[in-house]
Amino acid sequence: MKKQRRSSRLRILFILAVVFPCAALAFISIRSINREKAFVELRMQRALDVELVQTVSIVNAELDRIREELSASAPLEAAASPQASLVGWRSQVELARVPFLLTADLEITWPTLSSTITDHDRSFLIWNREFITDRAAIPVYQNIAFLYKDEITGLKEEPAAAGEVSRDAKKEAELVEPEEGLELMKQNPVVVAAPAKPRSRAQEVQTEQKALSQFATNPEIREQVYDKARATGQQTASRTVTPRSAPPEEENLAQKAPEESIYISAPQRFSQITKDRDHGLIPRFIEDSLVLLFWKRLSQGGFVGCVLDGDLLKNRLIDLIPNFFSSSRILTLLDESGRPLVIPDDLEARDWRRPFVAREISERLPRWEAAVYLTDPDAMASRANLTTILLWVLVFILFVAILSGGTYILNTLRSEMLLARQKTTFVANVSHELKTPLTSIRMFAEMLRERRQPDPEKQDKYLNIMVSETERLTRLINNVLDFTRMERGEQKYQKKRLDVALLCESLVESQRMRLENDGFTVTFQNDLGEAFIEGDEESLLQSLLNLFSNAEKYSDVTKQIDVDITGTGDSVLIQVKDRGAGVPSREADKIFKEFYRVDESLTSRVRGSGLGLPIALRIIRDHGGDIRYFPREGGGSVFQIRLPLIGMPSP
Ligand code: ADP
Repeated sequence: MKKQRRSSRLRILFILAVVFPCAALAFISIRSINREKAFVELRMQRALDVELVQTVSIVNAELDRIREELSASAPLEAAASPQASLVGWRSQVELARVPFLLTADLEITWPTLSSTITDHDRSFLIWNREFITDRAAIPVYQNIAFLYKDEITGLKEEPAAAGEVSRDAKKEAELVEPEEGLELMKQNPVVVAAPAKPRSRAQEVQTEQKALSQFATNPEIREQVYDKARATGQQTASRTVTPRSAPPEEENLAQKAPEESIYISAPQRFSQITKDRDHGLIPRFIEDSLVLLFWKRLSQGGFVGCVLDGDLLKNRLIDLIPNFFSSSRILTLLDESGRPLVIPDDLEARDWRRPFVAREISERLPRWEAAVYLTDPDAMASRANLTTILLWVLVFILFVAILSGGTYILNTLRSEMLLARQKTTFVANVSHELKTPLTSIRMFAEMLRERRQPDPEKQDKYLNIMVSETERLTRLINNVLDFTRMERGEQKYQKKRLDVALLCESLVESQRMRLENDGFTVTFQNDLGEAFIEGDEESLLQSLLNLFSNAEKYSDVTKQIDVDITGTGDSVLIQVKDRGAGVPSREADKIFKEFYRVDESLTSRVRGSGLGLPIALRIIRDHGGDIRYFPREGGGSVFQIRLPLIGMPSP
């Protein structure tokens, strides 16, 4: 009962300490292994995005440089002959493809239809006259995250009307959480903010960057800001490409809706765009093609400007991008129609609208993108698969290690616990084994000393009992001492040639009278005659005695002990048989272990130390032999000793 409770406790411990953590670990590992492919992709996207950020900033810096170059080279005065100075500018600066000149009232001084103008000039006038003379508005692009930076970062301020965002006009407002700010924005679209100090440029940049990162990472904010922009009359547009840079769960490209561009637009006139500034670049779409207009305010009033040569601009930008193609990826710029600026000849046709990662360039190049494509998209998948396989192998090895380690530890624990329990039982048993013969020896000795028993026959019987109890004591103490010696490896044998058959016979005969008095039938049969072995007499006797005394102890109703000696080739077989209860078959291989007792309870009918058989086995093995147990036909036990013979003595 107790044994069962203990082993079920160990089973629970095994489940809690090994099986449960293993299952949890398996669950976590399987989940993360399955995501490995997505993680590999994400890591790659992040790395490539860094390159894109760099590329975008190079392009923007180049646009600044172009603007400054044009500003520096533009004719400063509305000269008497504008044609000469503008034509001179065009021939000097190739980028300035179609120069123009405006009066302070935004009347076109050059080119005019009356002059001798080129085809370029004529088409410039057709497409731009309405705009540069301030009679028509064109869409002006702005970064939505910058435009609504205060709402995004949580400042309560409402942005100025589209296109009129003046940094100086920004008000300082109290900081609130982004969601709270947006909530306020929804409830009260025009929040009247308290007048505040203008922020420094550094603070502005900081807010812009914060807004940008919140805008990029929080889809909810994005959605609210786009809604807000549309509500205030701004135009939103889709990006020209659909990059894969999406969270792993939303990775299914086929179903992915085109992303919205971060650049939104609102119509503005030339006078609004040029207000408060000296010079700038204006992007505009003419028949779906992007055209850049440069303008510069003249000191005496009026404007000089030009349409930039699109092909030259593209060439300048292409030259800037270092390392367009590497072995693993293609980094390129896509124009407003989603076409790469350069395509290597040996590249197969691919879907340029599905880059691996992409970034919009700026409000000065709306719909342009910097994009990265994988040279071999399958390579990444196979790398991810390899990592997945390696991880599976690793996880499998770990599981096997944990399970086998856990099982080993628990088994060791179980056997240690068993041993500890057996040792405790052993101490109790041995104490009892010592006490019982001592009590009866003392009792009979006292009776004899006080001469309370006059009958000489009974006196003899008492003396016999005392002798046999002393023998029992000696056997027990010998067993304990032998065991200790064996454990320490100190057991020494004084081996000599001896007749083991004779040894058995003398043992049986020495016990016969006592046993027969106790109601035993004892038989001895020797088929071999003499059986010479090389052995230690004392130890072999001890071993035989242990088997013999077990046969006596464990005999119950039928008290019969049979000893026989036979031979097989070069071995002698000594069998000690009884008609007791025998050993249950599942215990048969355990009875030779130290301290093991089939019935180990202290209330067991037969007392013992659990050392008799292990000591007997050790002694016999030390003599090159073995002991085996067999159930006896008709009930009972057979303990068979096999010892190597050293040959019969010559007559
Ligand atoms: P013990 O001191 O308990 O007898 P042993 O090592 O001699 O220790 O025996 C181990 C166990 O083997 C015993 O507790 C008993 O259950 C079983 N056993 C040994 N000999 C016999 C036998 N002849 N008949 C039945 N059971 C036996």
